[in-house]
Amino acid sequence: MSGTLYIVGTPIGNLEDLTYRAHRILQEVHIIAAEDTRHTQKLCIHYGIGTTLTSYHDFNKEEKTPVLLEKMQEGQSIALVSDAGTPLISDPGYYLLTRAIVEGITVVPIPGPSAILTALTASGLPTDAFRYEGFLPKKSGARSRVLQALAEEHRTIILFETPHRIKATLGEIQNFFGTRQLVIARELTKTYEEMIRGSAEEILSNYKTQNPKGEMTLVIGGKPKTKRQPKRKMGANYHLSESISDDKTHVVPE
Ligand code: SAM
Repeated sequence: MSGTLYIVGTPIGNLEDLTYRAHRILQEVHIIAAEDTRHTQKLCIHYGIGTTLTSYHDFNKEEKTPVLLEKMQEGQSIALVSDAGTPLISDPGYYLLTRAIVEGITVVPIPGPSAILTALTASGLPTDAFRYEGFLPKKSGARSRVLQALAEEHRTIILFETPHRIKATLGEIQNFFGTRQLVIARELTKTYEEMIRGSAEEILSNYKTQNPKGEMTLVIGGKPKTKRQPKRKMGANYHLSESISDDKTHVVPE
């Protein structure tokens, strides 16, 4: 019987955020496949987990995947973890997962933290529908095209960003999104956790006196929707001019 591939969510900063179930699985599996073994070693030491660690990342996935698949086919169970949060979410694992599915290996997700939902839930921006875009492209032309398209999105938008690019990104957001509200969720679950709210311009002006630092997730308000006014039914007092003037749109305040 083949083993199981567990996709295990781990903390995005605060080590207390490991679930009981994730802890048990990390202890019980034969191998933990980690994006960076030194990073995951810290988590294992904190929790007294002695399971063998092996590295699994984008640069070794092609040689490592067949090895891990063979181990699972022999009956061993493997936990896939990333440096922070949920594997496969802007993190390695997709290559292994898809091949495990093809091989008929059982895949079990062990849910845990992710910067996406952690940032969204405290952002104060609409949570009923959202669009996660991961990291923006690095090349300026591609970035502009993506941001231009995102500016038309009605749902709340979530992006990952790095401190050294955030100022440039805020400048571009200011161009494409104007005064739209956004939130920089910084250092979530850590000592210096902070939610910076405002327009791109307002947040940029704060960065004139201090340099951006730490892990950051951006949550941007969606484009306000326009709504057609309901058409009036034809009745005794109906005039053609009314039907034309009804066909207007107005902006629904968020
Ligand atoms: N798989 C992870 C998840 O589920 O959250 C995301 C991994 S992605 C490679 C790393 C990015 O996530 C960082 O550059 C940052 O944008 C965001 N991130 C990770 N930890 C964070 C934290 N503690 N606070 C804010 N953003 C964080």
